[in-house]
Amino acid sequence: MIHNKATASGTSQPQKLDVIIIGAGLAGMYQLFRVRELGMSVRVIEAGSDVGGTWYWNRYPGARFDSESYTYGYSFSKELLQEWSWSEHFAPQPETLRYAQHVADRFDMRRDILFKHKVVSAEWLEESREWQLKLHTGALMTARFLITAAGSLSVPTLPRIKGIEQFAGVACHTANWPHEAVRFEGKRVAVLGTGATGIQTIQEVAKTAAHLTVFQRTANWSAPLHNSPITPEQQIAIKSSYSDIFKRCRESISGFIHNPDPRRGVEVSEQEREEFWEKLYKAAGFGIWIGNFRDLMTDRQTNAWMSDFIARKIRQRVKDPGIAEKLIPKDHGFGTRRVPLESGYFEIYNQANVELIDLRETPIERITPTGIRTAQRDFEFDMIIYATGFDALTGAYDQIDIRGTNGRRLKDQWAQGARTFHGFQSEDFPNLLMVMGPMGPLGNIPRVIEYNVEWVSKLLKHMQTKGLTRVEARPESVQAWMDVVKAASIGLLSNEVDSWMTGVNTNVDGKTARVLSRFSGTGPDFRSRCDAIAADGYPELDMK
Ligand code: NAP
Repeated sequence: MIHNKATASGTSQPQKLDVIIIGAGLAGMYQLFRVRELGMSVRVIEAGSDVGGTWYWNRYPGARFDSESYTYGYSFSKELLQEWSWSEHFAPQPETLRYAQHVADRFDMRRDILFKHKVVSAEWLEESREWQLKLHTGALMTARFLITAAGSLSVPTLPRIKGIEQFAGVACHTANWPHEAVRFEGKRVAVLGTGATGIQTIQEVAKTAAHLTVFQRTANWSAPLHNSPITPEQQIAIKSSYSDIFKRCRESISGFIHNPDPRRGVEVSEQEREEFWEKLYKAAGFGIWIGNFRDLMTDRQTNAWMSDFIARKIRQRVKDPGIAEKLIPKDHGFGTRRVPLESGYFEIYNQANVELIDLRETPIERITPTGIRTAQRDFEFDMIIYATGFDALTGAYDQIDIRGTNGRRLKDQWAQGARTFHGFQSEDFPNLLMVMGPMGPLGNIPRVIEYNVEWVSKLLKHMQTKGLTRVEARPESVQAWMDVVKAASIGLLSNEVDSWMTGVNTNVDGKTARVLSRFSGTGPDFRSRCDAIAADGYPELDMK
């Protein structure tokens, strides 16, 4: 192992380190914590000016997570769990950012993080068995191990619409939201995009904007969040039951406290189904998606009935039947895309200051200096908000020119879809370890992150103990994992639908066709496979 001390940050001096981590979001921060424990020299490279990742960038109005707050924080420190008090059941972005900052302070993380720096290239040097990174400043750094913790949804994408650069008003992607407060009073605002981000943004903007025009291409099934403050009594109960809460998350299919109902929707009576769904509709969080009948995501009939249940709710909540119909998805079933959770979303379409434009009926022709021109009319706006999503899962990797053995580019390697070993490694890229890489599981993200970081750290420790300096996934191990990923995806209705989870983003070249991009089996299954690999001494990996 190399044990050179890192030199001053930001200089053009090549720095030699044991580990470089890309990204200081929740994944990078925890990875830093664990690498330090191993006594390795480490630097984190972060593009933002502070920690937080997703929560640093996504400052748009209404941003909050849909995981129960007490399942979202790190579980690795009992003291941290006891000293941090979440104020709401589903915390808003400013609070989650404060949490990340608190963690950084508490564990003195910032001294190892190089902020406002971007990695432009990473090249594997076979002879010295290290990665050489070039930063946007031209500075070079080398490290034996490169760990990517750059996020699954961290590269925002703008729509490819003619004239987009000509708009003279304020235009902003939700993931590049300004740090200063943005006010909507008296303004004519457009929001493009009705995914989880758009739906949160729209609800906030509608409260104060003079006029809000929502441009919707695909309607999404959305269900109530039912957020509320955490009372002092609940706070005590939460803090005294953290070990049970995290056990529940560990045992659940995707790291949330929700688990599928053991019944199949097709097996029960119509009355039983309706009563169950009414109960779920009134309950907080993702229960309506993850805690639904166990065949919701595989049986077309159950899924169609559930979709019909939610469609009826939308019709009850939206006064204008024509608008209600536009808001009801017609091309995919409930839960086959990530379900946005809302707090009064549908009712905002009853407000006089809100208008819905269905882009399937009247597509946008261009952005003009004063607004947006559709096939039907010209709109004037003071502000256009793009809630148009991300170059998901592989986008952060495509941003960097990553070259492995024999100069092989990762982007080329993944041109037909990413291939990894459990989301941790790709063949031909020795010592490149990914936290939450493509083909790994998704779910309640911090829970997935913690396990991934711990697995990677255990591997580093193993190599450290044995004096090994090179690790690479064998091609046959990658193929075997890809077969598992494929098998787990069979029969899932979500894989028949375009979404970022099936690798589709019409705003990115080469990402218009569906590909497998995630492991859709359960968290416990994933972890038991990964635990077994470690327990057996990593036979699937080639180590020297
Ligand atoms: P998204 O789900 O990919 O949604 C992007 C939206 O923009 C879609 O409505 C899409 O329409 C629209 N769009 C994209 N390009 C367009 C174009 N050229 N013209 C018109 N419309 C266009 O992205 P997101 O809403 O940012 O959410 C991404 C993920 O982030 C979520 O699924 C979730 O995992 C995470 N997230 C979580 C939370 C939370 O925890 N509460 C909040 C926000 C986001 P189409 O559907 O037709 O493509």
